[in-house]
Amino acid sequence: MKKNDSFFIEKGYFGRFGGIFVPETLIPALRELEKAFFKLSRDKKFQKNFQYYLTKFVGRPTPLYFAENLSKKLGLKLYLKREDLCHTGAHKINNAIGQVLLAKKMGKTRIIAETGAGQHGVATATASALMGLKCRIYMGKEDMKRQSLNVFRMELLGAEVIGVDGGSKTLKDAINEALRDWVTNVYDTHYVLGTVFGPHPYPTMVKHFVSVIGKEAIRQIKKVSGRLPDVVVACVGGGSNAMGIFYPFLDDKNVELVGVEAGGVGIEPGKHAARFAGGKVGIFQGTKSYVLQDEDGQILTTHSISAGLDYASVGPEHSYLFETGRVKYTYAHDDEALSAFYLLSKEEGIIPALESSHAIAYVVKNADKLKNKIVLINLSGRGDKDVMQVRELMNKNE
Ligand SMILES: *Cc1c(COP(=O)(O)O)cnc(C)c1O
Repeated sequence: MKKNDSFFIEKGYFGRFGGIFVPETLIPALRELEKAFFKLSRDKKFQKNFQYYLTKFVGRPTPLYFAENLSKKLGLKLYLKREDLCHTGAHKINNAIGQVLLAKKMGKTRIIAETGAGQHGVATATASALMGLKCRIYMGKEDMKRQSLNVFRMELLGAEVIGVDGGSKTLKDAINEALRDWVTNVYDTHYVLGTVFGPHPYPTMVKHFVSVIGKEAIRQIKKVSGRLPDVVVACVGGGSNAMGIFYPFLDDKNVELVGVEAGGVGIEPGKHAARFAGGKVGIFQGTKSYVLQDEDGQILTTHSISAGLDYASVGPEHSYLFETGRVKYTYAHDDEALSAFYLLSKEEGIIPALESSHAIAYVVKNADKLKNKIVLINLSGRGDKDVMQVRELMNKNE
């Protein structure tokens, strides 16, 4: 191994987590990507261009909203970072724009991505349309059935959506298929991964593109309250919206950081996606992190009311922050998230994504402990995509 190789690989670690666990054929592509990313992340012109699209296209800075009604009800000071107001409805567009812009600078002409519920697919198709690049999205056939509206959206945006038939026909199978495509077409193709997951440099690169959330929030909350918040809360799927808001706060040790995973319908195997409550360290889809797996290392099925949190592993840096104790990880059950979904809608006139509802549920559950504190929630997305599902659940329960 050349000296450069070991340097390249060492950089991808967060303590004992992270790294690069991919077929040999992908190593040159990852190295090329890392080089381009580290160069452009320091390039003023590139950053200015990225800022331009964040401002004019995405709608940044997103507001920091004081949720007055819910604050009164819960006896604390609740601020919402309104990522639900981003173009396409969630924080995911920040990363998609960053990566597609990077791909274009690298001279790539073709974009591929995986998607579960379709949110990352829509964000990537949007960014590709904007930058004039060809786009193909891999999506499990089961997910295509459940999220047909998002499939149509991606097609309207000019993307080709490929149904994946293997395995459970869901997100992890779509990731495998996207990686296969990338191996074959690396010379002209960039793979836009949707969260702080996968092999280096993805966790670091995605963090870079989404940490605008936390940087803005620090500026905004200092301006309205004269100080930093006591607690910052975010839901954790792969972990990008959480990393986006946590990262700029990491050095402020007085700010408590709380990540909320999907507790599903119970904490037994197969019924949740709470990796830190039920997982073990393992290697999955290119990286080393906490994984929900059985005794033999087989990946367990997961369940959550929210598709965006329904995944067997979690970004490697979160595993590091879990073991060092800097971030506290807990979970909210489906029914708690659903109650929080209703509560924010009625109290504040904001219908949240079911994913973000997990973060709200934590604050509701712990209101006594949080009395009079300044609490900041990353409201990662809006609930428009979830209202049909919630209506069906309501009808079933009647
Ligand atoms: C995809 C998604 C998530 C989960 O992904 P992270 O990478 O954990 O942020 C959370 N909230 C919303 C609204 C999403 O669309």
